[in-house]
Amino acid sequence: MKCPACNGRLSEGTTSMPYVMEEKKLIEVRGVPSLLCDQCGECYIESSTLIKVEEIIKFVEKSGVIHGVLEYSEVA
Ligand SMILES: [Zn+2]
Repeated sequence: MKCPACNGRLSEGTTSMPYVMEEKKLIEVRGVPSLLCDQCGECYIESSTLIKVEEIIKFVEKSGVIHGVLEYSEVA
């Protein structure tokens, strides 16, 4: 698979996705599977993965957590 932006090589890795909800509310999901471009550093995440991350965030938001760091592999 090639980078849509620069045609560079994409390699599999993981990334962190911080979500700022409202004032002073930050949830970060770590270890999210992603593809990273070796050349321009662009990060691509599959839509199915994004949907899962959003579900996690919604769940965390409902539980009333203000600051949180989650591991994707533990909660997905
Ligand atoms: Zn690129």
